[in-house]
Amino acid sequence: MSAALREDAHPKEEIVWQGHGGPVHGRANGMDIIACRACGFRHAVPLPDPAALEAEYAEAYYRDAKPTYLADAGADQGWAQLVQDDRLDAIARALGRGPGTLIEFGSGPGFFLDAATAKGWTAIGIEPSRQAAAFAQGRGLTVYNRTLADAAAHGLPEADAVAATNVLEHLADPIGALRIACDLLKSGGVLCLTVPNDFSPLQIAARDGRGHAPWWIAPPHHLNYFDFDSLEALLVRLGLRPVERLTSFPMEAFLLMGDDYVADAALGRACHAKRMNFDLAFEAAGIGEVRRRLYGALAAAGLGREATVVAVKP
Ligand SMILES: [Zn+2]
Repeated sequence: MSAALREDAHPKEEIVWQGHGGPVHGRANGMDIIACRACGFRHAVPLPDPAALEAEYAEAYYRDAKPTYLADAGADQGWAQLVQDDRLDAIARALGRGPGTLIEFGSGPGFFLDAATAKGWTAIGIEPSRQAAAFAQGRGLTVYNRTLADAAAHGLPEADAVAATNVLEHLADPIGALRIACDLLKSGGVLCLTVPNDFSPLQIAARDGRGHAPWWIAPPHHLNYFDFDSLEALLVRLGLRPVERLTSFPMEAFLLMGDDYVADAALGRACHAKRMNFDLAFEAAGIGEVRRRLYGALAAAGLGREATVVAVKP
């Protein structure tokens, strides 16, 4: 068990469910979040039926849970491309050769695919949501409206890189998905995964230091709760070699300073605008490397809102 899974010192009830088991670290919407000893990361139990989950993400998710997401997507692309380019540059460093074929699963509106294409990659998206796939296809991108397992079964090219951003936390079987992703990679290929950095020290400070409810616990949409250590440990178990961590602005810092953006959507947008200003100021000054070093140091300490891990297939 990783250090991150041990850190939470509160006494815990134990739950065992279908081969999964561990102490309860949270509870919401009728589901328990356990630090699963079998999986090595925190996840919800009972896990939903995979077919029902697949149907949810095929149609209902963007319709019901994210009705304005696609229309709004791209509004912040001037800032988002910094993040996308950082990931693509980290992939290139790990790969050690020029761009080839990149597959992104859960490609959503497709802006990472755009950034990859601009850097010379042949970029292919896999997106189970009908609406999101159509949105990206409508912008001229190569996107298959399938699940990862379905797309792999129908034949995909061997990939130099596979990426997924904010996908693993939604899956009933993230380990199975990562096995498929590894199989798609050539030897020496690179996997780049981004997940919310959950149960982070800043979240624990907000919960236990300021009495804030654990807002990041959000089943059934978020079933899995990774941090850097648990994600890296899983990749090692799958035979990969983690080589770099990246992260984004530690949004929880706003909350610790008194701006409760969780309870106030307008404040949330204001905090997001502030972090974009923060990031873009370094670029405007021509010293973007300072921001990358700062976030690299945060990631090394297990901090930052997102956990991105870049790993190489031997
Ligand atoms: Zn488990």
